[in-house]
Amino acid sequence: MAIESVNPTTGERERVFEPLSAAAIDAKLQAAAAAFPTWRRRTVAERARIVARAGEILDAEKAAFGQLMTREMGKLIGAAEAEAEKCASGCRYYAENGERFLRPDEVQAEPAGSVNAVHYQPLGAVLAVMPWNFPFWQVIRFAAPALVAGNVGLLKHASNVPQCALALEDLFRRAGAPEGVFQTLLVGSERVEAIIADHRVAAVTVTGSEDAGRAIAAAAGKHVKRSVLELGGSDPFIVLPSADVDQAIETAVRARIVNSGQSCIAAKRFIVVDAIYDRFTSGFAEKMGKLKLGDPTLRDTEVGPLALRSIADGVDDQVERTVAAGARVLVGGKRRAGPGWFYPPTVLADVPRDAPAAVEEVFGPVAPVFRVAGIDEAIALANATGFGLGSAAFTRDRAEADRLAREIEAGSVFINAMVASDPRFPFGGVKRSGYGRELGVWGLREFVNAKAVRMAGIA
Ligand code: NAP
Repeated sequence: MAIESVNPTTGERERVFEPLSAAAIDAKLQAAAAAFPTWRRRTVAERARIVARAGEILDAEKAAFGQLMTREMGKLIGAAEAEAEKCASGCRYYAENGERFLRPDEVQAEPAGSVNAVHYQPLGAVLAVMPWNFPFWQVIRFAAPALVAGNVGLLKHASNVPQCALALEDLFRRAGAPEGVFQTLLVGSERVEAIIADHRVAAVTVTGSEDAGRAIAAAAGKHVKRSVLELGGSDPFIVLPSADVDQAIETAVRARIVNSGQSCIAAKRFIVVDAIYDRFTSGFAEKMGKLKLGDPTLRDTEVGPLALRSIADGVDDQVERTVAAGARVLVGGKRRAGPGWFYPPTVLADVPRDAPAAVEEVFGPVAPVFRVAGIDEAIALANATGFGLGSAAFTRDRAEADRLAREIEAGSVFINAMVASDPRFPFGGVKRSGYGRELGVWGLREFVNAKAVRMAGIA
């Protein structure tokens, strides 16, 4: 894939970048290796100050960062500015909590008078292979904890967001990070395995598709390096008869069209109990059909373009195959003619349980709705997927809520709310959605050495 910015709203190519040569990659890896020994010896407070400063810049320049995201991957301008703000709060969170997360844990052990503790120490250069869909947030949620912990960062961003990738490198430079502490590598995916193999790289984290996760996990395994995989999802959105159905409809719309449907934790399978199925489905289809599709720079637009021609082709193909398998289109279902890559909000009813929209991740504003008899079948269908990232359910019954929280196989369960990431909670998946966690203390601890330190006989 060429490293280029193509505006998804117009389909016009804006900038093309030459991928780094082997010598240039080597120089960046050398800079990372040279920066690490000094960076790790700085106090947590010093490192935290630089990450906090990055947050201040993100806040101050959210309008410019927002425009960049909108131009490069088609995010609605308001959501792009909100993403910059969220990044700022993520930086603040780790700047404020880093010291607490990294403080050694004392261990009570023999002999009396000895000192026993677990120390949390950085690993070295961490490679982050990142997706375009939240082009700032995905990077910051890796970079803020990794840098505060004393690691240095190498970003291999998705090839369609090179300008965001360069802006992030520049952000940390302006925030005061010394040379080599956070670098962008403009390279294609074919270079990733060799970078993982390099002795100057300690670990790798990837957010992206299953295919990317498999390839990166295989390379990390081959070279015995720590890895975190944040992969795709097909999140269930369950509505039970005890729910506030109007609230469920309103949230279902937002949960499906977030980022124009291109979010790993967007609701992707709507599972509704028979008693309220018709009411939910008709209300949902009506609201989805009224959404304003169009130019993401206009503040009243509700659904923007898909980021890549290949994403639009893929969604189109999945809907066609799902309809061919027997699903009924209630609204949408036909791609909008160019320029740009627009797919309208779509609701599909009577979807067979083995249809593409039921078993594959659909990365666009397409909502299959499934009818179930009750909570048992709802949980069974929610879990009948190879993915396990997020999940949402609507009920006003506490016993039902407790059961859903216990029995749904996913990295998160949200009751009466749409799934969202939050720096205070762990974020990640089970099954083919990956392994490891980001955010909170859990994300920070992925890329540290939990070192057992025992000192006896010291005066
Ligand atoms: P993608 O095509 O897998 O790309 C993600 C990153 O992986 C890009 O930097 C890409 O580089 C790289 N890559 C792709 N194939 C690779 C390979 N074989 N070896 C090494 N690197 C490789 O995914 P995407 O289309 O950008 O993002 C959408 C996917 O990400 C969806 O499945 C979504 O659910 C998932 N996602 C997951 C989370 C989460 O936290 N769990 C969050 C957001 C998105 P190139 O661009 O150069 O190909």
